[in-house]
Amino acid sequence: MEEGSVHFHEMGLDDRVLKALADLGWSQPTLIQEKAIPLALEGKDLLARARTGSGKTAAYAIPLIQRILTSKQTVREQAVRALVLVPTKELGQQVQSMIRQLTAFCSRDVRVADISGKADISAQKPILMEKPDIVVGTPSRVQAHINAQNLQLQTSLEMLVIDEADLLFSFGFEADLKSLLCHLPKIYQAFLMSATLNDDVQALKELVLHNPVMLKLQGSQLPDSSQLQQYSVRCEEEDKFLLIYTLLKLGLVQGKSLVFVRDVDRCYRLKLFLEQFSIPACVLNSELPIHSRCHIISQFNQGFYNYIIATDEQGLENPARRSQKTQEKGKKKKKGKDKEYGVSRGIDFHNVSNVINFDFPASVESYIHRVGRTARADNPGSALSFISHTELEMLAEVENALTGDVTHDSVLKPYGFRMEEIEGFRYRCRDAMRSVTKQAVKEARLKEIKQELLNSEKLKTYFEDNPRDLQLLRHDKDLHPAVIKPHLKNVPDYLIPTALKSLVNPLKRRKKKKIKAGGVMLSSFKKNSRGKNPLKSFRYTRKKREKKAGKS
Ligand code: AMP
Repeated sequence: MEEGSVHFHEMGLDDRVLKALADLGWSQPTLIQEKAIPLALEGKDLLARARTGSGKTAAYAIPLIQRILTSKQTVREQAVRALVLVPTKELGQQVQSMIRQLTAFCSRDVRVADISGKADISAQKPILMEKPDIVVGTPSRVQAHINAQNLQLQTSLEMLVIDEADLLFSFGFEADLKSLLCHLPKIYQAFLMSATLNDDVQALKELVLHNPVMLKLQGSQLPDSSQLQQYSVRCEEEDKFLLIYTLLKLGLVQGKSLVFVRDVDRCYRLKLFLEQFSIPACVLNSELPIHSRCHIISQFNQGFYNYIIATDEQGLENPARRSQKTQEKGKKKKKGKDKEYGVSRGIDFHNVSNVINFDFPASVESYIHRVGRTARADNPGSALSFISHTELEMLAEVENALTGDVTHDSVLKPYGFRMEEIEGFRYRCRDAMRSVTKQAVKEARLKEIKQELLNSEKLKTYFEDNPRDLQLLRHDKDLHPAVIKPHLKNVPDYLIPTALKSLVNPLKRRKKKKIKAGGVMLSSFKKNSRGKNPLKSFRYTRKKREKKAGKS
């Protein structure tokens, strides 16, 4: 995370906010916070291009809280003073939780309510009757409450935030957004946060911002290579399965990983495939109920799962960038999906060490948002993209967008992996693939949805009240509508490539989980490449392993 030279305590913030920041362990503001907070406190409208993971939520939340605390010194009357519009329920929850953390020492004075998540409008009415100082919601939900007269903003609203503004349009919230703007007072301070400043966002800027300061924080939308390593590896369809099996089974990918695939069927195909080798993984997709999705992420954050297989929602993709063919496919897929769903952005996964693009994303934007799930805050991360011949064109587009006009070296470095070395595993992979039929995928999909609907009902009532009771509820259980072949669970020693023998000791695989560091182990087949290995920080892991292997 980019850090500036100004400190939080130099910004004139309330002591209770400073205390909360200290409790969060934030020693310095991020770049966007350093720029945005003082301007916002001066009363300026802001348009900020901020990438996910840049600290953008606190960049607007801190000024909101500060302003409310200040105005409460003179006006005690309770009223909704700030509205935060978000494109997804998940982001709504995340924003609420961030604001709760920042108001930990002034929660009586600054109350926040997220109305984006629950289905029933009448159930939310009592929350709004209490006039929380900050309301977080999707435009459609806020508009519904205005229509039901549960929410009046005309006289009290002082601040409006539109977060992930570009997504609001692609999720079809444009009409709701425009109509709710008519219910706001004439004068309010507004912040518009967006990952991209496209034409829709420019149009919105005209509608809501007055004389705004533009914060186009220069630099890439992703952290640089000292924090985030990006790799690509050429492999066709069958090889993708072979490679992921090798990476996960031999522990060449360390730490928590998000594996992105292109559609829901692929999620289950991959899950069933990995199941054959006793590699547990959770599926996260828009078909699953909201409570389950949030529970999966929360458990992932707590370290329950190492691998999540996810799709990114169609709304993420900018139609203008997609080929005709992909657009047509996209239209079909969109049907029946939860439009307020967001995985590759919006939800805050914690400590993701690796993003694996099992299928390459269909747009540059999507690449940035998927990969932006790792290397957040000060943490290192790596992204590895599997590229088939049909994905080469999109890879070039991503490369162009990431390098800009200057002809740099490619941003996605080749992953030094010799596919021929793992040929020995191909037979096992084919064996496993044979069980993962279309029918098995269909059954698994159905089985999981049924299961998750049951879970979701339980979660609905208990999620907030009894989080501990729910620790036992897991989402990575085997679905196996396919036959499991027990012999696939273990990797016979003779199959492990010689170059990897020193790295992998199947008998000690359980112990591997204790290794905290993440990352994709690289150049594993290049014997003398350690010095050149960009993941130098993981060298100790290798040494440890060598020692262990030596002992055994
Ligand atoms: P955001 O871009 O708002 O989604 O924030 C990304 C992550 O950075 C969140 O997990 C925040 O808790 C964390 N974060 C935000 N600001 C800071 C800061 N000043 N120092 C350290 N971590 C931060």
